[in-house]
Amino acid sequence: MITRDDCQKLDDADVLAPLREEFTLNDNEIYLDGNSLGPVSASVRRRVNEVLDDEWGRGLVRSWNDAGWMGEPTRLGNRLAPLIGAQPGEVLVADTLTFLIAKLIGAALEQRPERHVVLTDAANFHSDIYIIEAMCERAGRPVTMKTIDRDRLDEELNDDVALVELTHVDYRTGESLDMAGITERVHAAGALMLWDFAHSAGAVPLDVTGANVDFAAGCGYKYLNGGPGAPAFLYVRKSWQGKLRNPLPGWLGHARPFDFELTYEPAEGVQAFVTSSPSIIALAALDGALDIWERTSMEEVRAKSLAMTDLFIQLVEERLPGVFEVVTPRDHAKRGSQVALRHPEGYAIIQSLIERGVIGDFRSPDICRFGFTPLYLRFVDVFDAVERIASVMESASFRDQRFAVRNAVT
Ligand SMILES: *Cc1c(COP(=O)(O)O)cnc(C)c1O
Repeated sequence: MITRDDCQKLDDADVLAPLREEFTLNDNEIYLDGNSLGPVSASVRRRVNEVLDDEWGRGLVRSWNDAGWMGEPTRLGNRLAPLIGAQPGEVLVADTLTFLIAKLIGAALEQRPERHVVLTDAANFHSDIYIIEAMCERAGRPVTMKTIDRDRLDEELNDDVALVELTHVDYRTGESLDMAGITERVHAAGALMLWDFAHSAGAVPLDVTGANVDFAAGCGYKYLNGGPGAPAFLYVRKSWQGKLRNPLPGWLGHARPFDFELTYEPAEGVQAFVTSSPSIIALAALDGALDIWERTSMEEVRAKSLAMTDLFIQLVEERLPGVFEVVTPRDHAKRGSQVALRHPEGYAIIQSLIERGVIGDFRSPDICRFGFTPLYLRFVDVFDAVERIASVMESASFRDQRFAVRNAVT
């Protein structure tokens, strides 16, 4: 049996332990939902206050030039690039994820004009599916979205497939896909590959360059801790830049926005994927949140993440044998940074846990989802969380009528 002391020893030896004090966390609460919304950090406050007091406060409109506001989407893209294995000039921070997926789908479809199918995962996040389908309908030629069992992708690839869009870490199960292998097979079929990194960026090491990825996009507010509704990021491989057209062009993606020309001419590089004015305060929050990544590496974060998810799975099985089905793969190569436990009363269990200070979330129909974020979680938190899960299950407190009614956000 693993004891709390064993976990304390792991914390004592943890190189990431000092980073926890940067974050605002509630006392006696264990936050296992950083995969949905990361917490605020001291550097976020610092940077947002700097923008409020100095750049916006005193600089006013001059700050578009003096504080370099126009360059923020690409500057932050360059800060974020190492986290996904991208080169400088390949990442842009803008919009939110669904919008960026729309832009990349529209742009990619133009590059395969003789093909008529977009493949995506039937288990994909609903927003991805809605926007892919909508963009297919508006492609200017007949294009259909086909939702498939991702394990049968190879059977579905043929010379009519223009593009494959997959979410790299499954938001429900936490399964991580073989990015390099899948991208290679998609390319062999002559199609293009777009990865959704919503649950990957800041969660697992990524190498878009090595995997030869065409396009990718991800969230700023999950593992990157950029704040609720934070701007998202997109990746466009260098070799595609200049060829790929932004299907939602706007003045700030123009080569010369302040010439007010009535004919659109795209700016160079990823800047062409900017549509409109960057949200400077939101970018400042994300900018501050990125500071913490300079004090660690994705390798360190990954090592602790795997140790935490291993520990959680082991403790759940020791303390509660047979109570939950562990849906997340045991194989490290196939695991993101969350653990999904299946239980028919999953919603009520999560509600009862939240009342006891363990914040996880529920994903329909029966998944209790727990995110493990090495920047601010301790091994003793993992231990204490499982103790509280055990107490909810043993006391059957989740059966209380109060937990039967679903909130708007689960
Ligand atoms: C969270 C998430 C999104 C959300 O996108 P927004 O448009 O930023 O709200 C999209 N796709 C996946 C897979 C997600 O997990």
